[in-house]
Amino acid sequence: MKKETSCVHAGTYRDAAVGGVNTPIFASSAFEYIDRAEMLYPRHFNTPNQRAVVHKLCALEGMQDGLLFSSGMAAMTAAILSQVKAGSHLVVLDSVYGGTHALASQTLAGLGVQCSFVPTDAAAVESAITAQTSAIVVESPTNPLLDVIDLRRVAQIARQRSITTIADNTFASPINQTPGGLGIDIVVHSGTKYLGGHSDLSCGVVLASSQLVVQIQAVACTLGGNVNALTCHLLERSLKTLALRVERQTRNAQHVAEYLAGQPTIRRVNYPGLANFPGHQIAREQMTGFGAMMSFELSPEVDATQFLLRLQLIRPAVSLGGVETLICAPAQTSHARLTAAERQRIGITDSLLRLSVGVEHVDDLIADLAQAFGK
Ligand code: PLP
Repeated sequence: MKKETSCVHAGTYRDAAVGGVNTPIFASSAFEYIDRAEMLYPRHFNTPNQRAVVHKLCALEGMQDGLLFSSGMAAMTAAILSQVKAGSHLVVLDSVYGGTHALASQTLAGLGVQCSFVPTDAAAVESAITAQTSAIVVESPTNPLLDVIDLRRVAQIARQRSITTIADNTFASPINQTPGGLGIDIVVHSGTKYLGGHSDLSCGVVLASSQLVVQIQAVACTLGGNVNALTCHLLERSLKTLALRVERQTRNAQHVAEYLAGQPTIRRVNYPGLANFPGHQIAREQMTGFGAMMSFELSPEVDATQFLLRLQLIRPAVSLGGVETLICAPAQTSHARLTAAERQRIGITDSLLRLSVGVEHVDDLIADLAQAFGK
């Protein structure tokens, strides 16, 4: 099946009782177990609503199995913890999402897991590997600088040394990129973003081979962080329109990025779809669309907060990937947990703004930006 068809049909639980076309909501947290093939329990990640969504996502990402969590960070935590122990070494891109960065540099480092933070470049990843490296954590494009890394190359480097690769695919969504097809072992999503798509739910996803999912599930069953049946229902409904939404968002984003690139009060636009963006060529090779996330650096004479307050349609809000266009200052939001020195090293300045382009008419978005620029 093509992705558009999988979005609608894959994984739907057949409602034998009354023939409803949607997966019924199984609200139970207690299930009979005698003479049943499997003991179902929400924290075992195996209830019917959890499994229906996982099957749909596996079809979209081309992966064997997966687990659904209550947040992207719960998913990332379980994925990484399943691959490390005290004394292990992790290679992590310096420009990954702030929460993932803090998980590695603060939480895991405190538990005796050594982490090397490297530039978004496969050669830098390779040179940071040590005899203790058990996993490599990447994100592409990254939040919020949209750095792109050659996922196929990272996967090859890791495979040669039996190191597990974990890729956060939140920004691209499975519509624009499938890291598993490039050789990545574990794909993680903040499902709160494009997968949910309406800024009204929180969840996370881990997808991998059946063998790896067994390892991750063993950790996750003790950590918890499972998601409830109602959220699964909302997510399954949202995924039916994922391809439609992301295609429109991606188209809008290209127009918005080109508009921003022509503004004299903007110093730099980070968007993989711009031909002069450093990651453009690799993005062309490994993505089917450039996505709908971008960031831009305002000139020093423009006050970033005043610019945000002048916007009328585009809302300054935390999070991304929804049908509505949102904007935020990463230094105060997604990367607030990092130290000022870490932000400076990565290149997240106070005048950097991140834009998540929605499904509105692109003319209205550009008109709102133009009036906020004072035109
Ligand atoms: N990964 C990326 C790229 C993100 O942008 C986020 C959140 O913004 C996360 C992971 C964490 O997801 P959640 O907020 O659902 O825990």
